[in-house]
Amino acid sequence: MKSRAIVQTGQRQLELRQFDIPEIGEEEGLLRIQHSGVCGSDWSQYKNGDFSGVVPGHEPVGIIEEIGSIAAKRWNVKKGDRVAVETMLPCGFCRPCVSGKYNLCIAAGEKGINAYGYHSIDIKPSLWGGHAEFMYLDPHTLLHKVNKDIAPELAVMFNPLGAGVRWAGRLPQTKIGDVVVILGCGQRGLTSVIGARESGARMVIVTGLSADAHKLEIAKAFGADRTVDVEKENIVDVVREMTDGVMADVVVEVTSGATQPVVDSLKIAGRGGRIVLAGAKYTRVPEFNSNILMRKELVMMGALAVDFDAYEAAIGIIESGKYPLELMHTHTFSLDQADMALRVLGNEVEGEHGIHVSITP
Ligand SMILES: [Zn+2]
Ligand SMILES: [Zn+2]
Repeated sequence: MKSRAIVQTGQRQLELRQFDIPEIGEEEGLLRIQHSGVCGSDWSQYKNGDFSGVVPGHEPVGIIEEIGSIAAKRWNVKKGDRVAVETMLPCGFCRPCVSGKYNLCIAAGEKGINAYGYHSIDIKPSLWGGHAEFMYLDPHTLLHKVNKDIAPELAVMFNPLGAGVRWAGRLPQTKIGDVVVILGCGQRGLTSVIGARESGARMVIVTGLSADAHKLEIAKAFGADRTVDVEKENIVDVVREMTDGVMADVVVEVTSGATQPVVDSLKIAGRGGRIVLAGAKYTRVPEFNSNILMRKELVMMGALAVDFDAYEAAIGIIESGKYPLELMHTHTFSLDQADMALRVLGNEVEGEHGIHVSITP
């Protein structure tokens, strides 16, 4: 049997290829993909040509097609179950892994990055990515059961919602009554609204650009109290006004590339506030004033990816049907439209405003 899979072969080059489906050993499994979420990092690797010779896609939801007996016990799943698969393939032995921070696993080894979507197709069985019909499940896989009744385009949001839960909830220890400011309103800014709300925030404020008006509307539907178009209003002034000068308990920075929000975060956070930096930057942050950090005893922390508990919580939220997540899912594409899927997510297609985009075989 064979599986079709997208292979990135270079900068802006994708090919639909076929690979043999391997025989599944005792500690392994095979996933029949239902939907594979398209991540901002898929877009940047497509645009920049990093990681060629891989099957991209690291946010898959699917059905267990085959499973070895040991894997079935370890993962507590059987053939036919629906699961969401985590991105990381942690080694399980390094210092971060054994201390419970497997998202920081140091073992890259021959595989480059220890994650789905990044292993070379030269490493057998080649089916290491979600933008395919089938994905191989390595013994190091971490996965979660998902109710089969949930629409696949919503189930596949376990990944961005897991980030919102972790970055706006668990990491900064957001609690009942907190004021949370979220800088940025992409997928992870929007899911951060839910993460903050579920953690008990009293007030949630979200920023975006003028071109993000439709995203800011979704932020409101997810429970934001106030949205700020930073091209028209000053976010620091808005927070000052809305909190009588007390400022925010938690600031979550999820803009891509922009450095001003990092500078602003120090002003937006109140005394003893917590700042989570989760947006990738491509230059250093100028005008970073560490005195503000010192004087206000701010806690500033970085956030990379999601962990098991946050994924479990995110899946519970999706299954609850409590939030209109369908507002965020804008596009579904087939495998042979993978190129289009990436360009829509990257806002390169005239007239299309992609927020959450997925690929289905
Ligand atoms: Zn991703
Ligand atoms: Zn490790």
